[in-house]
Amino acid sequence: MKAARHLPVVAVAVLAISASARAQGPDYSKIEIIVEKIAPNLFMLSGSAGADPGHQDAAGGRIGVLAGPDGIFMVDAQYAQLTDKVLAAIKQISTAPIRFMANTHIHIDHTGGNANFARMGVTIFAREELREEMLHPPPLANGNAAPARDPASLPVVTYGMGAPVKLHMNGEVIDLIPVRAAHTGGDTMIRFENANAIMIGDFYRNYGYPYIDTNNGGTLKGALEALDSTMKLAGPDTKLIPGHGTIIHRADLVPYRDMILDVQAKVQQMIAQGKTLQEVLAAKVTAPYDAKVAGGLLPAGAGTSADRFVTMVYSELKTGK
Ligand SMILES: [Zn+2]
Repeated sequence: MKAARHLPVVAVAVLAISASARAQGPDYSKIEIIVEKIAPNLFMLSGSAGADPGHQDAAGGRIGVLAGPDGIFMVDAQYAQLTDKVLAAIKQISTAPIRFMANTHIHIDHTGGNANFARMGVTIFAREELREEMLHPPPLANGNAAPARDPASLPVVTYGMGAPVKLHMNGEVIDLIPVRAAHTGGDTMIRFENANAIMIGDFYRNYGYPYIDTNNGGTLKGALEALDSTMKLAGPDTKLIPGHGTIIHRADLVPYRDMILDVQAKVQQMIAQGKTLQEVLAAKVTAPYDAKVAGGLLPAGAGTSADRFVTMVYSELKTGK
């Protein structure tokens, strides 16, 4: 089987926001898959910029590909509509069969393509909680039942909060590290020990403010805990690869955690003063950070990404989670 071929690193394209695209979903026909080499046999695949209103900097969620003679191990599956483009990009790296996939979490930009890959014979690993979330999705915002997921998208091998699941392939040791409820109730970090890289999923993001999906079991407390455990796990040079945004290092987590703690403290203080959610949103508690957080004031849900974050902090503190 062919060894991984060297591919050029392609810089993230310039941000292009089309106001007309905002109201719609992703324009899949415009999305290209960009390949970035992380280590001799480890590659990251991202969607191009400007075609996914929810992720203007890079469409969908980032995919990881570990290639070599033992076959391919993948992290996440992107939107289902992009599977053909993802497969074409993987074929440029290696023609070895794709054997395994691990999901960082349930969101459709990370698991949408699961069923397509499962039908090709790929065995999917994920948290038990993720499988449960797929089987019993929360109702939609309008109260209607969520459409059932294709049964083929369900992970076949599941695990709980114990020791990491280890895979030994292509001279690499891959650790599937369970994370207590953070971005969702079923998060996993995927560490490549020899490449010194960790795919950390979405509990950290540097495009927009933190997003904790409380409908799918996420908690702010868990996200803070996940940041702490990542700081312990990573060395100073470890590449930390989020599901969206730029690749970072351990030192970058510190101001991010401090920002969350500062916003949390301000919201807590306003709750103690009896302020309503509307009053807290009007106080713009993220203002000191808005200039530094790319995409922080772009639309997300009912308001901006900052509003969504503050609303989540408020309701979590209110309910005492
Ligand atoms: Zn996500």
